[in-house]
Amino acid sequence: MHIHWNRLTKKEIQDSIGKALSTNVSYRNNKIMGVPGSALSPHIITPELVQGDPLLRVMLENPNHIGCLTIEKESESFFSGTHQLECEAIKLCAEEIMQGLPNQQDGYIAGGGTECNLEAMWIFRNYFIQNFGSQTSEIGLLFSEDSSISVIKGCDLLNIRPFVVRVTPKNRKMDKEHLRAQIILAKNEGIKYFIGIINLGTEMFGSVDDLDTVCACLEEQTLPYKIHVDAGLGGFIYPFTKPGNKLNFKNPNITSIHSDASKMLRAPFGTSVFMIRKGYMNFALTPEARYVAGKDHTIIGSRSGSNAIALWMLLRTLGSDGVRLMMERIARYAHQLCQTLDSTGVNYFYEPGMNVIAIRQEDVTKDLKDKYALVPDDPENPRWWRTLITDGVTPAFIDAVNNP
Ligand SMILES: *Cc1c(COP(=O)(O)O)cnc(C)c1O
Repeated sequence: MHIHWNRLTKKEIQDSIGKALSTNVSYRNNKIMGVPGSALSPHIITPELVQGDPLLRVMLENPNHIGCLTIEKESESFFSGTHQLECEAIKLCAEEIMQGLPNQQDGYIAGGGTECNLEAMWIFRNYFIQNFGSQTSEIGLLFSEDSSISVIKGCDLLNIRPFVVRVTPKNRKMDKEHLRAQIILAKNEGIKYFIGIINLGTEMFGSVDDLDTVCACLEEQTLPYKIHVDAGLGGFIYPFTKPGNKLNFKNPNITSIHSDASKMLRAPFGTSVFMIRKGYMNFALTPEARYVAGKDHTIIGSRSGSNAIALWMLLRTLGSDGVRLMMERIARYAHQLCQTLDSTGVNYFYEPGMNVIAIRQEDVTKDLKDKYALVPDDPENPRWWRTLITDGVTPAFIDAVNNP
């Protein structure tokens, strides 16, 4: 299937946002008491300065986007206008970029990648407890050693046991023998259910985990499992540069996905997209919370609607063609940087289709580090230094490697 959605003109964007804001109640124009919020203070945003700027207008109006807005709500919302634009942004990400069936995914704009990973782990933990009568101590988390630190944080918060799988240095994919050994070890220690984290672009290497191998090893041991794809880094690039890849909602083994617009699309922080198949969000409600009004299926609680609008604006201004061009350009620069490094004899790791190049400590010069603000894997004892090509990188950056 071809990823496609239309772009809108600047005027259409402004009009849509104006219409959304006039559907919302306004702290400034309506008499509002009882809603716990307010228009932003003139001490931080000057109302007269924002009129022509749709995003600043939304920030000033400060709509609250609490909860999972893709779930039908019983009560009428004060901010239904901008809520609808958030739902549209989630829909483009889940159905176009991640190939889900129409109206079969829920989601929300989370505070960050950490929250998305925690949300998935929380939902799946409760799913095993509620549907299988599992004890928390019988649930294990399976992930590669290159995974985000946020998954360890999640194990601690949710009381889930971590099972870390070593990677093969050559391709940074999970070592199959160690993967199998960890699953058998877990099983022997009483783990009966697994949550698997599959990286679509690890933070340090951009490496992509092999989902089929993980599923096969879990099925070998007849253990029920749920898979969350951490596409914090790759979620907006890989679907465009590797259109045939299997890490999306077409794959029945995948239940939830996290893509991050702040890392790749030049969106502000606070625009991480959490997406999950319909029917799962309710596991994020404790039984007590299910009966109170104003349900909230998220970890974050109240959050700014302006982040959702920033994502919506980016997706709608660029259209799928614009995003594709941006991602193809980024991938081309990454490839060019690899060629440059090849010609200078520098060793590195690079996953085709991604935008990360990790350079070995032995090969990194102070000049390279300083010039590209490279980031070490371990600041005390660095083995790898990472460069991340984003839309802000130009060919001049790359040429400079050759001509310092
Ligand atoms: C950045 C990143 C995270 C964590 O995201 P935060 O927004 O910093 O919480 C998680 N996973 C991956 C793959 C990431 O690149």
